[in-house]
This record gives sequence, structure tokens and C-alpha cells, in this order.
Amino acid sequence: MIPLGAAAGIHRWPASLSVAVGLLLAGCGASSEPAPPIHPDFSIAAPELDEVLEQVDAVTAERIRTHSQVFLDLVAQVLAADRSFRVLVDKRHALPQDYVPTDLVALDTYPITTNRTGHRLSRRVMPDLLAMAEAARIDGIELMVSSAYRSFDYQDRLYKRHVDQLGREAADLVSARPGHSQHQLGTAVDFGSISDGYGETANGRWVAQHAWRFGFSLSYPLGATERTGYNYEPWHFRYIGRVGTRLEREFFGGQQQLMLEFLAAWAPWFAARRGAAGP
Ligand SMILES: [Zn+2]
Repeated sequence: MIPLGAAAGIHRWPASLSVAVGLLLAGCGASSEPAPPIHPDFSIAAPELDEVLEQVDAVTAERIRTHSQVFLDLVAQVLAADRSFRVLVDKRHALPQDYVPTDLVALDTYPITTNRTGHRLSRRVMPDLLAMAEAARIDGIELMVSSAYRSFDYQDRLYKRHVDQLGREAADLVSARPGHSQHQLGTAVDFGSISDGYGETANGRWVAQHAWRFGFSLSYPLGATERTGYNYEPWHFRYIGRVGTRLEREFFGGQQQLMLEFLAAWAPWFAARRGAAGP
């Protein structure tokens, strides 16, 4: 064996010997090998994920880096789920005026309490909404749906009424402009009294504690006005699926807006690398 310490004198060795040493060094150089994928479903190595995480806030980045396999497991499931569960509908992102979910069903035909007749929701929400109402009932809580699907035109009238009553600036903190309401998706639900005190009622506390288990996410949490653009709304939940609420809780601190912004920015990047790692 040639001691590696002799490499400084390599220029004096015969050519064949230099090639042999070169091959030996290449074999030892692990850094020259491509890094392996972190997860079998994605062709993503740790250094590539790190590049994404450089553009994410430090707390979220650390959570993802530490549990990257669980994270990618959940991302794979979110990508496979209904896209409307993760579409960003907020102050800056609107739905088309003519967007109407194609699977609206009348809540009056289901065993669920409502504040009036005529509410409709996307059929995709119903199994988990019914399961949640049943779980609440077992705990002695009766869930009541007070608002569900709202059309663009309905939201237009509602927003104008708020502007008339409060002025535009104050109205924007409590009411979405037409096209910007999650209710137009047919997957958002207002529960109970639609009042600030709802969060302090037994009913509101139950929903705050358990809704995530059924795929319902609090859209406008306390103290998140700067991020969401809305005041605290303890009654307003959006259905994002059970995998969605797990991803939101485990990696985004329960902040729906933060998670949906991340997915809006990066879902195409993850989707493009999905399935490329294996058969
Ligand atoms: Zn609402």
C-alpha cells in the first residue's frame, strides 16, 4: 500500500501508479456520491430539502428537518388528497366568481343541527362532519351549523352590509370580499353563535379541542390577525382533511394560513419529485 502521506510527491511517480492512487482516493471520497433520498416516495435528498427550508421560518424549518420522513409521509398524502382542501383562499388569493362546488348537498337531509334550513356543504365534508357531531353528542355537546356554503353573490351582499355598518377598514377584519371567502369552497363551516364569546362556551371549547381529529381547522386563530388579515373567529373552521390537520399541527404550529401558504409555494416542487425515486 502507498501511504497517502506520500501524495505530495505524486508528480514523480510513474503514470500508472498515479492512476491507481487516483482511483483509491475516488473510492474513499463519500462526498462525491449523490446523497440518498430521504423518503422512498420522493427523489429528494437532505441537501435539496435544506435549500427549501432556507426559505421557511426557522421554527418550521427545524421541525421539518428533525422529522423529515414523517413530514414527507404527510406531504405525500396531502398531495394525493383533494386539491380543493389545500387551495389558498385568503385576502390575496380569490376564487373565480363563477366557482361553485359541483357536489353541494343540503344539510337538511342529514342528522345535523342547523340554525336555519337551506344550508349546503360539499359532500366531501359530510362523513367527517357527521362523525364529529356524533363524537360531540357522546360528550354531551350539540354542534350547530350556523353558516356553510356561500355563493359569490351572497358574499358580495354580506360584505357590502358590513362595509355600510362598519366602514371598509373595519369590515375587512371581519368579512371577506366576494371571491375571497373560504365559504365559497363549500368546505368551511361556522359553528354555534358566530360571536366572540363562542370560544369560551363549552360548545366552543369542545370544537377547539377536537375539530382537528375530524379534519376541521380553525382558520383565524387568536393573535394571528397579522398573518390571516382577520380578527379571531373561534366559530369558523375549514375542512382540510385529517391528514391536513395532522400536517398543520405537527409542523406548522396549528396555523392553517402558514401551512396553506407553504403548500401553495412548494406543493408543485414536491409533486415534481414524487414517484421519481422508485417504481
Ligand atoms: Zn365563517
